[in-house]
Amino acid sequence: MDTSHFIPEKIRNIGIIAHIDAGKTTTTERVLYYSGITHKLGSVDDGTTITDWMDQERERGITIVSAAITTQWRKHQINIIDTPGHIDFTAEVQRALRILDGSVVVFDGVHGVESQSETVWRQADRFKVPRICFINKMDRTGASHRHALDTIRRRLHAPLAVLQLPLGEEGDFHGVIDLLKMQAVIWPHELDEHPETIDIPAERLADAKRAADKLYEAIAETDDSLLERYLSDTPVERDEWLAALRKATIENRLFPVLFGAAARNIGVQLLLDAVVDLLPSPQDIGSIEGINPDTGEPETRELTNKAPLAALVFKIVTDPYAGRMAYLRVYSGELKSSSMVLNATRGKKERVGRLVRVFADRREDIDKVPAGEIDAVLSMKQLHTGDTLCDPEHPLLLEAIQFPNPVISIAIEPIATKNNDEIGKALAQLSEEDPTFKVRTDADSGQTILSGMGELHLEVLVDRIHREHQIEVRTGKPQVNYKETIAKTARQVEGRHVHQSGGHGQYGHVVVDVVPGERGSGIIFTSKIKGGVIPNEFVPAVEQGIYQAANNGVMGDLSMTDVEVTLTDGSYHHVDSSEMAFRNAGAIAFKRACSLASPLLLEPVCKLEVVTPEEYVGDVLGQLNAKRCEVESTELRTGGAQTIQGYVPLSEMFGYATDLRSSTQGRAMFTMEFDHYASVPERIARELLTKWGIKQAAPG
Ligand code: GDP
Repeated sequence: MDTSHFIPEKIRNIGIIAHIDAGKTTTTERVLYYSGITHKLGSVDDGTTITDWMDQERERGITIVSAAITTQWRKHQINIIDTPGHIDFTAEVQRALRILDGSVVVFDGVHGVESQSETVWRQADRFKVPRICFINKMDRTGASHRHALDTIRRRLHAPLAVLQLPLGEEGDFHGVIDLLKMQAVIWPHELDEHPETIDIPAERLADAKRAADKLYEAIAETDDSLLERYLSDTPVERDEWLAALRKATIENRLFPVLFGAAARNIGVQLLLDAVVDLLPSPQDIGSIEGINPDTGEPETRELTNKAPLAALVFKIVTDPYAGRMAYLRVYSGELKSSSMVLNATRGKKERVGRLVRVFADRREDIDKVPAGEIDAVLSMKQLHTGDTLCDPEHPLLLEAIQFPNPVISIAIEPIATKNNDEIGKALAQLSEEDPTFKVRTDADSGQTILSGMGELHLEVLVDRIHREHQIEVRTGKPQVNYKETIAKTARQVEGRHVHQSGGHGQYGHVVVDVVPGERGSGIIFTSKIKGGVIPNEFVPAVEQGIYQAANNGVMGDLSMTDVEVTLTDGSYHHVDSSEMAFRNAGAIAFKRACSLASPLLLEPVCKLEVVTPEEYVGDVLGQLNAKRCEVESTELRTGGAQTIQGYVPLSEMFGYATDLRSSTQGRAMFTMEFDHYASVPERIARELLTKWGIKQAAPG
């Protein structure tokens, strides 16, 4: 495989996303195998080479831990951006979705849509990421293409373009009918390299014609001129259908569907064809918008090499050999090694370090990263996730990647005191790689506290401290990150910071209203100051004071959220007023107002899905009920399993994996992810406040 640069039309930046266990890893490995390694090895003599290669890869741990891997198929460069498999890491999925142009969503042929695929699908909807559906595991007992398609239509409301029909059922699954070519493609032997193209078996012909008609109709619906020709029986060439389908896919109006069994090597080559034929190139995305940091005005950049440079750092990985690697996507212009660029996020100029392209089995130095490509830069210590690099003459700030705040914390300490210093370094490195993970030292206890998005997220991090840094640690019990908000409105509340005894005085005086905000809205500040009763230059100081005060709420040492604060009035002194005085006055007014507005505790609530054999449904529901779970639905799945969906406070779910295992003899599984903050019921709030030694009357 060469490292020459491809024109943007020949690049595909894709992610492979799935519910855990649907076969994302297997599919990715097969994609890399067929697209990359075959080029390198020339020919593969016997099938066992495939597995040999994969075992080696696994041992060396290269392939699937990279943030992005480059490979090639039909003279196109495909960059596969890693998306984490577990739902605790949805923030990581969102980050990946921001920088990719298209995606393959892997479904399980038995289960169809599962909760995580639903969550990720919705996120992809939000970022308008074009998607191809790959229904995997069609060889499994219970696999049903009808059921899988039905769940996609019903649960995802996705208009589908079903491109294939499976050939053979369950263990006998051995190929597909390609409906646009009206041919059958079969994989005659296990681990076969190359599929064979044959005529559609006579007994499936009628089926195939019906399915092809449906496909044509779906495509024609998106294109008036095609519809007219289709309805008037004017012949339409396959290329024309393909072009129209590509357009509809890129516009998110149709989602092509393919079938396969990655573990048995069936269907992967056709999936790669579909990636090249149907998913957008960076060119199809056209342009990107950012903010000129000098003027504050929005500006766009064409996604071409000729436009000024704009690149986004989306992941930092510390590699045992290469050191700190910053993965970035160049949107416009070219990022050249050793050139000077502006880090628009930090307002600093920097020299570009070594540039490398990461393949499945190696890295290669490159001299530049052109528009549309995804590669990594080494040894640029100041680069962080979310930073924009741009042409210093044409500064541009791309929208940073938003990460949610962690919802769960755990105290840790190294078992051996000799590791006290090393652990700091290890944690700094881990938090750099994963912005949803935070580290702090508790002011009272001096303990090191890790925070993340879920129990599993923290477990994985603790495991990495042990595995990658050889530090044994002791951990405390996980704690939920509670927050505070207000239940009522408080108006015209004053805050004064006035010290005028001798020397230069301090005078700040503000009046604020606080109103409960929408859940998830954070603290929103508005100024309604008129006629200069507080001079404009002091208003930002009031705002700052309020944000700082919101870091520690009025009941416990918890941050406040979801409050709309309006600065309505105040006064100043022409000599003695200062920013500091207004900052303090703002903080005092905010705290006073919130304590008058019925403060309230909030807790993280998760979306939960449990899949259990029917006979345990009663026990599972009983257990969930005791955990304050609000069950939204229970639904029968194929094979007699029940799916239970609902919302449950995170604080109730510690150790649930063990509880569920013991009550269902290990036959049920669950997935859970943070969803929103909600108020803690009064009785529990009282208990918590007592436990924390907080005397205030419990919220009402
Ligand atoms: P991930 O969690 O989505 O990355 O899923 P994996 O790729 O790790 O696969 C989960 C399990 O399903 C593994 O035991 C795989 O061997 C198995 N698997 C993956 N693809 C297939 C397939 O096409 N057919 C069958 N029967 N099993 C598969």
